[in-house]
Amino acid sequence: MSSLRFKAVEEAFKKKALEVTPPSKFTSDYYGKYVFNRATMAKYLSKDTLKSLKNVIDKGATLNLDIANDVAAGMRMWAMELGATHYTHWFQPLTDSTAEKHDSFIDYAGAPGEAIIEDFSGKLLAQQEPDASSFPSGGIRSTYEARGYTAWDPSSPAFVVDDTLVVPTIFISYTGESLDLKAPLLKALSAVDKAATAVCKMFDPSVKKVVSFLGWEQEYFLVDEGLYATRPDLLLTGRTLLGHESAKNQQLDDHYFGSIPSRVAAYMKDIEFEAYKYGIPAKTRHNEVAPNQFELAPIFGETNLAVDQNLLMMSIMKKIARRHGFRLLLHEKPFAGINGSGKHNNWSLGTDTGVGLLTPGKTPEENLQFVTFLVNILQAVYKHNALLKASIMTAQNAHRLGANEAPPAIVSIFLGTQLTAILNKLENSTSEEAIVVGAKKTLSLGIAHIPEVFLDNTDRNRTSPFAFTGNRFEFRAVGSSANCSSAMATLNAAVAAQLTEFKAEVDSKIAAGSTKEKAIFDVIKSYIKSSKAIRFDGNGYSDEWKLEAAERGLDCETSVPKILKAYTSKASIDLFKSTGVMTDVELHARNEVKWETYIKKIQIEARVLGDLAINHIIPVATRYQSFLLDNVYKIKAVYSADKAEKLSKLDSELIEEIAEHISIIKTNVDALVEARKVANKIDSEYEKALSYHDDILPYFDTIRYHADKLELIVDDEMWTLPKYRELLFIR
Ligand code: ADP
Ligand code: MG
Repeated sequence: MSSLRFKAVEEAFKKKALEVTPPSKFTSDYYGKYVFNRATMAKYLSKDTLKSLKNVIDKGATLNLDIANDVAAGMRMWAMELGATHYTHWFQPLTDSTAEKHDSFIDYAGAPGEAIIEDFSGKLLAQQEPDASSFPSGGIRSTYEARGYTAWDPSSPAFVVDDTLVVPTIFISYTGESLDLKAPLLKALSAVDKAATAVCKMFDPSVKKVVSFLGWEQEYFLVDEGLYATRPDLLLTGRTLLGHESAKNQQLDDHYFGSIPSRVAAYMKDIEFEAYKYGIPAKTRHNEVAPNQFELAPIFGETNLAVDQNLLMMSIMKKIARRHGFRLLLHEKPFAGINGSGKHNNWSLGTDTGVGLLTPGKTPEENLQFVTFLVNILQAVYKHNALLKASIMTAQNAHRLGANEAPPAIVSIFLGTQLTAILNKLENSTSEEAIVVGAKKTLSLGIAHIPEVFLDNTDRNRTSPFAFTGNRFEFRAVGSSANCSSAMATLNAAVAAQLTEFKAEVDSKIAAGSTKEKAIFDVIKSYIKSSKAIRFDGNGYSDEWKLEAAERGLDCETSVPKILKAYTSKASIDLFKSTGVMTDVELHARNEVKWETYIKKIQIEARVLGDLAINHIIPVATRYQSFLLDNVYKIKAVYSADKAEKLSKLDSELIEEIAEHISIIKTNVDALVEARKVANKIDSEYEKALSYHDDILPYFDTIRYHADKLELIVDDEMWTLPKYRELLFIR
C-alpha cells in the first residue's frame, strides 16, 4: 500500500492556519525598516556625503572613494544596529536565481592576532571579485582568466536580511562585458531616458529625465509541503511530469477571486508584512484562475528597483511558504490542463515633471505627446516582435505560451476600440486636426449611494500578450519565475532606439522647412501605417490568428532554441549596439548560456520522467496487474470453465490493457534514453538544443499519456504519487 502518499494527505488535513500578527498596527510604522533608503541615509550619513550620493544616484555622477568610505561606514552602523554581522554583494548571474557570498565585518585592528574590530570599507562596498568561475558566461570568461567583478548599484538601496547587509550589484568581466542581467537593464534604462527625454523636449523643454516604470503581478501556486515531498518531479523540476487531470479543476471558475483559504490567507499576510519591512509596496492579493493558484502585486515603481524587489520577493515567498507547511511553485506550468503562471509586466514611461507619457492628456498638446509615444512603441514592438518573444522565452514558459490560457507565442498589441479609432482617424486625416483623446466619458448608474463610474479608456482583452491598459502597457508573456530584467531591458532598448530614430526623422523634416507639429504629425502617420501588422484586438487564442499573424509577417516560431536566435539577428545586434546595451559578443555568449540552460532543464526532466516511469508507475501497475491475475487464477479454481471465463472477463481485459500501457511506456523510456545519448554527442549548443526540442521532448507526451491512463486503471490504494486533486485542492 502507498503509505507515504496517504500519510502526506492525512498530515496535510491536520494542518491549521498559522496565527500571523502584524509587526505594528500601522504599516507605515515599520515600512522599509530593513532598507537603507533615503530617510535612513539622512540619519546615518553626513550632509555632504548624502548630497554627493544623491548626485550619484540621480544624476549618474561618478563615485569617489572618500564618499564610498563614508557611505560604507554609515551603512555598516545601520546594519549592525539591525543585527547584521555580515555583508554580501548580491548579483544576478545568467542563472535562474540571484547569487551572494557572505563575508563577516570582522577584521584585525592592526597586526594579525591583535584586537578584532568590525570594518566595511568603501572599496568593499563599491567593488568585489567573487570567485565566480562557475557562473555561466557563454565562453566570455574561460576559466584560466575567470575574473568577474561585482560593482555596487547605488540606484537600488542596500537592505538587511537576517544577519547580512545585502548590497545590490552588477556583475561584469575583467574585460568589461556584462555577465549578469542587471547591467544590460541599467544600460537600457539609461538609453530610454536619453532618447525619451530628447523627444519630450520637443513638447516641454523643461523635462530633464524620463523614468521607466514597472509594476509586476506575481502569480504562484502553493502545494502542501508533505505532498510536494512525495512527488520527485515537483521536487526536482518544479512541475508535474505526470498526473491525470482532476475531475474538477477550474471549470466552475469558483476559485478566481474567491474567498482565500485560511492557511493561504495567513501565508499572504505573512509575506506582505515581510514585503513591507523591505519597502516592497505589496498592494493586491487574490486567488487566481486555477485551484491553489494565487497572485501578489505591488504598486509600480522605477524599473530597476521593481526588478530587484521582485527577486527579493520571490525569495521571501519561498522561505515563508515553508513556515506555513507549503511549497511555493513559481514554475510557469506546474500542472497540465489548468492555467499556468505568468508575471504580467505593467510598463510605462514618466517624466521628472510628473507626466505619464502613456496617459492620455487633457490638451491637444499633451495628446500629441501621448500619441507620439504610443505610436513609437507600436513601431518598436512591431520591428522587434521576434526579439521581445525571445526575451521571455524559456523551457518552462514554452509550456505556458500558446496554451489556451496564456498569451500566444506571437507578439501583438491590443489597443482597444477607442485608441484604434483615434489612430485610424489620424492615419486618414490630411491636416493637423486637433487630437482629442481621453476626454473621459462618465457613466451614470442612476443608483443612489454609488458614485459615478469612470468609463475606462480601454476595454480588456486577456488573450493579448501586450495590451494597452489605460496608462501603461502590460507585457503579459513574461513567465512567473522570470527575472523581469530580460524583458524590461529588451523593451526599453527597443523603444529607446525607436525614439532616437523618430527624433532624427522629425529633425530632418524640420531642417527641410516643415513646422515642428507638421513634421511630428507626418512621421506619426507613417508609423501608424508601417506598424499596422502588430495591432490585433481579436482573439489571440484562435487558430485563425495564427494563420493571419503569419500572413502579416509576425514571428510565429514555437521552437524555443529557434526563438532565441532572434537575439543575434542583424536587427537585434544593431539595436543593442546602437543603444549601448549589449555587444555582439555578449549577445552570442548569452545565447550559448540560454541553449545550455534549455538543454539541462529538459535533460533533468527526462531523467526524472524515466525514474517515475520505471521506478514508480510500472512497478505499481505491475503489482495491480498481478493482483488481477491472482483473482483470475482463483476464479478459475472455483468455477467451471464457462462461468470462470465470464467472471474473469473484465479482469483479463484490464490485465491486457495494463500490459499494453506498460510496454509502450517502457519502449518509449528506452527510446528517450537513446535519443539523449545521440543528442549529447552534438557539439554545438544550438544544434543540441534543437535535438532536445525536436527529438527528445515528443517522448514526454507519449509516456505521460500512457502513465496517466494507468492512473485511471490502477487501484487508488496502490498509487504512490499524490494525485492532481490532492495537490490542487488540499490547503
Ligand atoms: P490587473 O490585474 O487589472 O492588471 P493589478 O492591480 O493586479 O491589475 O496590477 C496592475 C499593476 O500595474 C500594479 O502593479 C500597478 O501598480 C501597475 N501600474 C499601474 N499604473 C501603472 C503605470 N502607469 N506604469 C506602470 N505600472 C502601473
Ligand atoms: Mg494584469
